[in-house]
Amino acid sequence: MRLLFLGVGEACDSRHGNCSILVHAKNTSFLLDCGFSVPHRFFYYCDDPDCIDNVWISHFHGDHFLGLPLLLLRFWEMGRTRPLQFIGQENLKEKTLAALELAYPGFVDKLRFPMQFLTITPGKTLTVKGLHLRAAISGHSQQNYGLLIDDGDNRLYYSGDGRATEATRKLMHGCDLALHEAFTLRDSIPGHGSMASCLQLMDEENIKQLALLHLERTTRYREEETIKKFIADHPGLLLPKEDDRIVLGDTA
Ligand SMILES: [Zn+2]
Ligand SMILES: [Zn+2]
Repeated sequence: MRLLFLGVGEACDSRHGNCSILVHAKNTSFLLDCGFSVPHRFFYYCDDPDCIDNVWISHFHGDHFLGLPLLLLRFWEMGRTRPLQFIGQENLKEKTLAALELAYPGFVDKLRFPMQFLTITPGKTLTVKGLHLRAAISGHSQQNYGLLIDDGDNRLYYSGDGRATEATRKLMHGCDLALHEAFTLRDSIPGHGSMASCLQLMDEENIKQLALLHLERTTRYREEETIKKFIADHPGLLLPKEDDRIVLGDTA
């Protein structure tokens, strides 16, 4: 499994793009979340109109979802013909089409590639090109699904937004890498996790590595030295930045 971080920031961070990760596993690829700032970064790396097979949307807040119209516009402009599959919770199709219609009225009729929508149900496994996907609801202000991708050799968890719940803990238990939002230093904002609770998660759920994402921007800058020390003091914790890559296992 290969990961490339396109963005690691929260919604309003002007120094870091919205959280998004490009994942290649087995013979398929995923874009994990597509917020406002993501398409520009994505197309910096992707000049093939048919690249990327699947887009995962954790929830419908703009910093995770509202990059879709631009993603689709650019794929159209590049002449994409290959189907693009969207995976997420109920209403993903309706919301995606509504966002596209608002951004570019009538544009959906021009697309020359099929859009396919797959709904994932918590508690059930969805198999996509030999990968097993499972989802669970986190504790966020809007319904958000954490996602586990299992390629048979490695397990990757991506939280989207929200605090860990019993259900998301079960999903990420023993995984090789968890990408988890950590908005503040300690749990203080309802509906968001923290660096301290992520450290606890990593220990309690026997997670091999945990990458902290979606840090609240003023905390990230004001507490830079504290955060650096926190990461250095706890092996297994990572603080990725844009363009960082991680390889899990020795296969693509
Ligand atoms: Zn967010
Ligand atoms: Zn959110």
